[in-house]
Amino acid sequence: APSIVWFRDDLRVADHPALHAAVERGEPVVAVYVLDEESSGIRPLGGAARWWLHHSLASLADDLRELDVKLVLRRGPAGRVIRSLVDETGAGAAFWNRRYGGAEREIDTDLKSSLAEAGLEVRSFAGSLLFEPWTIRTGSDTPFSVFTPFWKACLAADEPRHPLPAPSPGDLTGVGGAHGRGGPASDDLDEWALLPTKPDWAGGIRDTWEPGEAAAHARLQEFLDDDLGDYAKGRDRLDRQVTSRLSPRLRWGELSPHQVWHATRERAAGTEGARKFLSEVGWREFAWHILFHFPDLATKSWRSEFDAFPWPRLKPSALTAWERGRTGVPVVDAAMRELWHTGVMHNRARMISASFLIKNLLIDWRRGEEWFWDTLVDADHANNPFGWQWVAGSGADAAPYFRIFNPELQREKFDPDGAYVGRWVPEYGTDDYPEPIVDLKATRDAALAAYEQVKAAR
Ligand code: FAD
Repeated sequence: APSIVWFRDDLRVADHPALHAAVERGEPVVAVYVLDEESSGIRPLGGAARWWLHHSLASLADDLRELDVKLVLRRGPAGRVIRSLVDETGAGAAFWNRRYGGAEREIDTDLKSSLAEAGLEVRSFAGSLLFEPWTIRTGSDTPFSVFTPFWKACLAADEPRHPLPAPSPGDLTGVGGAHGRGGPASDDLDEWALLPTKPDWAGGIRDTWEPGEAAAHARLQEFLDDDLGDYAKGRDRLDRQVTSRLSPRLRWGELSPHQVWHATRERAAGTEGARKFLSEVGWREFAWHILFHFPDLATKSWRSEFDAFPWPRLKPSALTAWERGRTGVPVVDAAMRELWHTGVMHNRARMISASFLIKNLLIDWRRGEEWFWDTLVDADHANNPFGWQWVAGSGADAAPYFRIFNPELQREKFDPDGAYVGRWVPEYGTDDYPEPIVDLKATRDAALAAYEQVKAAR
């Protein structure tokens, strides 16, 4: 009886524990991806994420075909879809790598017990995080809320396992072979309409990225060869590209964190660059552990006293100016245009533009989080709300609210020659560039005054 391998945010064939288990089981494989926009609590993907998903699925389907397995695409509430696939194929086993969001866990737990009751072998694996959230606890057996001791505890735990090899041709057979003739039917990827049509806003994203596992590995190698040495010193510079740009790869699981961890350690263990880079991967772990313990991270303040923050009435024109990169604050506008054009934004630029939205425009961080969710190709269930709450001061181990970024000083420090602003805001310095839409000093004072209410609620 076949094994179902359910692909989710792990669109790769190497270091895929669930696929590996199916190889070991030795029966024909049904590989499936479910586009679930219906189950309760599932956050619909943003536009840029849908673009990435389309191409990454196409690439995964090619890689699986090489292994004689067809990728079956289905749409609908995931639990129901997988159960009906079990009925159709007479599957005897179902394997997947774990998810850590609240709604996702509920779906997976229910499915696991109903399939197990029906007599299937059901197994879930650790594939997307280096450390399972329930294994990293403080001395008093609570989850960590501060990064430094959290990461120390991770580093003191057993080293993450070595990556599993990709299956070789001949290791697997799909039900009905690579083309699935006689096997379960699949939707047509194009009919999912994940790509934008009118208007087609994805031109810049297409020019910037090549989704898929092969390109992800190529970038990892290139980063280790060319950039890791500069990483510790250069990572904050807006005008240089020395960071890994692996975030969409990790988001979609084209690479596993285990592969990143071991490749980095094998190349550069003990160097400042490797230590710093892996600790950033550690922030990803931290954000996901926080989400595991606090599933409402995208909608609720992690520090509840921040619910008392008196957000003024939203001025839609200010939000639009921010989204479009027309605030008259050059580094913020550069950041927002980089995001729109490429589907990513430099980490420091994310902090500066988020701070400007929250503390100069006094707009609720959730509005900014939603815009990022829609426009980032790496939009991540944990990292995005975590990053926003970090800037807003309401998150775990967050920047203190009163430390408000001055975008002008940030620009001088991290874009000293003006190359970043020059690239994205070429009209800066001419009459075509607008005056700032707010006074930085006055809005900063207003933000600090509003914060008094949070202090009072504490
Ligand atoms: P590198 O510096 O090369 O870091 C390597 C990897 O570590 C990244 O790919 C990422 O997986 C992880 N990482 C690095 N920094 C962080 C961080 N601060 N928090 C969590 N993980 C980190 N990251 C996302 O992946 N998705 C998001 O949706 C996202 N939204 C953010 C929103 C805000 C407001 C802020 C301040 C940060 C956000 N980040 C998000 C974190 C960070 O900005 C990006 O991960 C980073 O810019 C990606 O570039 P890189 O791959 O070159 O990073």
